[in-house]
Amino acid sequence: MSDRIAVTRSSMPTLDEYVDEVRSLWDSHWLTNAGSKHEELRAKLREYMGVSHLELFTNGHMAIELSLAALGLTSGEVITSPFTFVSTTHAIVRSGLTPVFCDINEDDFTIDASKIEALITDRTVAILPIHVYGNICDIDAIQEIADRHGLKVIYDAAHTFGETYRDRGIGTYGDVSCYSFHATKVYHTIEGGAACYSDPPLDLKLAQIRDFGIVDEEKVAYIGPNAKMHEFSAAMGICNLRHVDDEIAKRAKVSERYRERLSSVPGLRLSPLQKEVKQNHAYFPVVFEPDLFGADRDEVFEALNKNGIGARKYFYPITTAMDCYKDKYDADSTPVALDISKKVLTIPMYADLAISDVDRICDVILNCH
Ligand SMILES: *Cc1c(COP(=O)(O)O)cnc(C)c1O
Repeated sequence: MSDRIAVTRSSMPTLDEYVDEVRSLWDSHWLTNAGSKHEELRAKLREYMGVSHLELFTNGHMAIELSLAALGLTSGEVITSPFTFVSTTHAIVRSGLTPVFCDINEDDFTIDASKIEALITDRTVAILPIHVYGNICDIDAIQEIADRHGLKVIYDAAHTFGETYRDRGIGTYGDVSCYSFHATKVYHTIEGGAACYSDPPLDLKLAQIRDFGIVDEEKVAYIGPNAKMHEFSAAMGICNLRHVDDEIAKRAKVSERYRERLSSVPGLRLSPLQKEVKQNHAYFPVVFEPDLFGADRDEVFEALNKNGIGARKYFYPITTAMDCYKDKYDADSTPVALDISKKVLTIPMYADLAISDVDRICDVILNCH
């Protein structure tokens, strides 16, 4: 029996590379509060991601919450979708805003832009869509609706590191795009996140809100938490950035093999290859239609597990069906999201996943057929 295959595996530089990167911190003793590694990473990410403005955070979640705060969104309704990591919905609710849930597209799992307008009321202040699994939302339609109704657009871009749409960095769309640099993401700083935007006044605001709202030693202008990225995370980010293109290229090979093996199997549906999008292959979701495939998602999950292969019911449950929300929101109001959450599995995907392991995973899945 070969070793267990995890659903993901954090990429890491060599220990020597990391030690070289953090060595200077033993001279400076400057460990956090926008130190030199922080500023170097920020500049390098702006260039890599093709964005004009970028602020770093302790994690992706704080990037979302504090972007809402910096945009002055403290009350009203925010249109979003429940087919996401719980962070997206939490960020809205914890900010004192009311989430209004829109259903998703059957094919790419992102918000169904044709259903947004019907949800707009005189209390709507923003749209917070998610680029699910790195699939890009209908950016043009969403922006057009937002412009017509004077709404802000904040993208949860946690899954899209390194992606472009029409040769522009994903982070250049909307008012703000929020990234997660968590250890399980395509690119990481152990824990970390960023907000990208084009509106320069947000710079100062985000930097201050993220540091208790402190403007200077005697002036505190906002009620902010502590959400600063420290130097050791920034150093990890500098190292990982050197290798991320190679990692994405290796993920593309894994993805290609999965597609060869699984794309024409009845009852299996794979994520689309979107036009004009440079993909990062962050996840490999598979939707199982039990009637056609002959086994349901949970049976495949168990079969993989029995064979030492990790998979994730991602996203299940949808956020509106979670214990903390199920009495307040109606999961049935987004039937497509609810249905897909019961049929989808993300299967192992990381740069160093061997093609022979990909074949082993596919064999187990196809055996359920
Ligand atoms: C990972 C993730 C987040 C939260 O990011 P953290 O860095 O873990 O705080 C938010 N939204 C989505 C869609 C994510 O996948």
